Amino acid sequence: MLILNEEKYAKDLYDGKNQDVKSIMAKIRYVTRYLVHSEHKNNDDTYKETVKWLKIRHNNFDESSYSSVISDAIKSAPKYPFYIIDNIKITRSELEIISSLDNLRAEKILFILLCMAKQQSMSNGFTDGLVKYSITELCKMARVSVPADDREYILYEIVQRGLLGYPKKNNTQCLIVNFINTDEVVLELDEVDCQELAYVYLNWKNDGKGYTKCQRCNRWMKQSKTKPRKYCEECARESHLESKRLSEQRRRDKIRGQNPTQQND
Ligand SMILES: [Zn+2]
Repeated sequence: MLILNEEKYAKDLYDGKNQDVKSIMAKIRYVTRYLVHSEHKNNDDTYKETVKWLKIRHNNFDESSYSSVISDAIKSAPKYPFYIIDNIKITRSELEIISSLDNLRAEKILFILLCMAKQQSMSNGFTDGLVKYSITELCKMARVSVPADDREYILYEIVQRGLLGYPKKNNTQCLIVNFINTDEVVLELDEVDCQELAYVYLNWKNDGKGYTKCQRCNRWMKQSKTKPRKYCEECARESHLESKRLSEQRRRDKIRGQNPTQQND
């Protein structure tokens, strides 16, 4: 996913959400920045809180191996305030250029790269469409599952079409998106949209047919043709559990009503 509100993201991580963050270095950076910028802790308290947090939240955390890493992260935290991006705007001509690739896998990948480039121009200050990416993460966001060699080939084909370029210094982690425009804005993507960018693109491409938003968490999902879905998988599970809990509760209340002497069981 793309992060738009980094402060909220760091707070969620601190509160034990965002389990997708696996790297201990990333955890240390977010937690120390959160404690410094949002909780306004001094360096000593930030260190203590970070160690306490890691002991609970990170498997086999060993303070002696990471004490200097944590101290360094605390020292550099003031240089990295959180960014907050209201939305990512995508224009008509950008969408039309992507759509002209006429290959769904390549289109989804290029759409994600465009969104990433726009996000990184605001979060990292990158210019001229520069985008830093990891191919695994990119394919995951694009919901494209192909063998590793084919992934590179999809990118290569887009480069051949002139829509992506390589930076002058050959950096395999970076590309340049060549078609960023400022014409009519068609999509304004918020944080929830950014969780399912592939569906956002497909929904635009299919004129709003076949995709819908979960009525509970707002996440984009595929619509079923036979049985219209109200909730995403996660929320459907939650809602099922909730109604089960409720009916169980009603059943118990009913028994109590019939048998008031057992009220304190
Ligand atoms: Zn949901």
